[in-house]
Amino acid sequence: MRIEDFPEKIQPYLIPKVAGDLVYRCLGCGEEYDITELLYTCPDCGSVLLLVDRAFDRLKQIPSVLWRQIFDYRRMLNISSFKGIYRYYEFIGPVIPIDAIVYLGEGHTSMVEANGHLQDMVGARFCFKNDGQNPSASFKDRGMASAMSYINFLLRSKRLSEVLAVCASTGDTSASAALYAAYLQPDVKSAVVLPHKKVTAQQLAQPLGNGAAVFEIPGVFDDCMKVVEVLSEQYNVALLNSKNAWRILGQESFSYEIAQDFDYDMRNKAVIVPIGNAGNITAIMSGFLKFLEVGIIDCLPKIIGVQSTHANPVYKYYLEPNQEMRTFVPVKVRSSVAQAAMIGNPVSMPRVIQLVKAYNEKAGKQVVFVVEVEEQAIMDWELIANRNGHFACTQGGESLAGLIEANERGIVDSGDTVVLDATAHALKFAGFQEMYFEDKFPPAFEISPRQSLKNAPELVKAQGLDIFPSPENPLKGEAFDQFVQQTAKTIADKLNLKPRQL
Ligand SMILES: *Cc1c(COP(=O)(O)O)cnc(C)c1O
Ligand SMILES: [Zn+2]
Repeated sequence: MRIEDFPEKIQPYLIPKVAGDLVYRCLGCGEEYDITELLYTCPDCGSVLLLVDRAFDRLKQIPSVLWRQIFDYRRMLNISSFKGIYRYYEFIGPVIPIDAIVYLGEGHTSMVEANGHLQDMVGARFCFKNDGQNPSASFKDRGMASAMSYINFLLRSKRLSEVLAVCASTGDTSASAALYAAYLQPDVKSAVVLPHKKVTAQQLAQPLGNGAAVFEIPGVFDDCMKVVEVLSEQYNVALLNSKNAWRILGQESFSYEIAQDFDYDMRNKAVIVPIGNAGNITAIMSGFLKFLEVGIIDCLPKIIGVQSTHANPVYKYYLEPNQEMRTFVPVKVRSSVAQAAMIGNPVSMPRVIQLVKAYNEKAGKQVVFVVEVEEQAIMDWELIANRNGHFACTQGGESLAGLIEANERGIVDSGDTVVLDATAHALKFAGFQEMYFEDKFPPAFEISPRQSLKNAPELVKAQGLDIFPSPENPLKGEAFDQFVQQTAKTIADKLNLKPRQL
């Protein structure tokens, strides 16, 4: 809709103005740092940072009902800068000039309610939010759009030139970083560091196709992370892992969208999310907290983090009920089909610890939970979901397996509506489906396929035919007719089809 056609009282708010006072705040010592330079850890104490808006209280001057209207009307704007995560500009990056915003189609992914059959089977009302529908096919694009818009802003204001963006990745961060860097070439180039043979062929194809320098190193993600940390400390590169607080800021959009899609009514809602490096769950909690603080929502949804038993350091941390007694111990990861979350030493753990505490305090009771699930359950539930009209990835399967577990533990109430984060596109993880169908999982995965969920193509070569068509030798005339008739009959027999009564 054109600006002049919006209600007059909304018009002044449609196109936001640069405002706010963003600083990096250290989670260790509380020190604050200017955002004019790229910073990932506290120069003083080495802890991770979060971006905070020191002028956040100005947002409370706008009544909550008006905020809701602003976001709902902005849905109708045809200005690409506000079509993605920056619909929530005031909350996501109020210092970034509008013309520096990079929009590649991220955000506003669909929320699809499960059919009745699947909901009955699971015993809960739930939907998938399909973050695989982002441009590089995972939720990472939300944070990348934020980090790259900020870099673009620094480039345009000549505070940076010739950026080399680097990241370690379980596959999706590198796909996303390479995509956004390619869009900003030649000013931005990207280099990605991946654990050799620990990302899928599809995920590897992505940064290669987008022209990134791709390095595979032996080990697992946690080893790659250490390497890029050293690179970012000792060389002039831009780190694009979720250690970069701009990533977290952009990923908060996931929560804002959920709030908006429920008309800002978060009563009896729960959000389930797989945990890897723990950036996503950090952002989701932070997003809901900000909307609550301004009054856009009036209560907090439950947050349920899920980990595989093969990569469960966050789960283990929260096993200890006494807050004072908890200690974080990284784990040695084992093979996991939720490979994008196969991380033993999550970088955002200090953020999680702080936000879980704040979130539960605001809610007045425990509303953040972490559950763990078996590899077998992840695979089975992914396939069951997809047999009911979804296209969840293995991490989406992990979310659903997490819902089953949360249900059993009584974390989800019968009146709750649950949003499952399907964090990436299923096609990226098609190899695991293939291993399941062909019963080819190496023993380390501890997965054996259920016969009822297996599927395989069947080559049909009708009996009694001597020649078959091929691209070089198409059939013609009698031979072609025979081939078509016999092949159709063979398929009909296999499917037990009854001839049509004419
Ligand atoms: C990165 C990723 C995760 C884990 O998210 P964190 O923010 O690292 O906890 C889960 N699923 C997919 C598909 C991912 O790409
Ligand atoms: Zn510090």
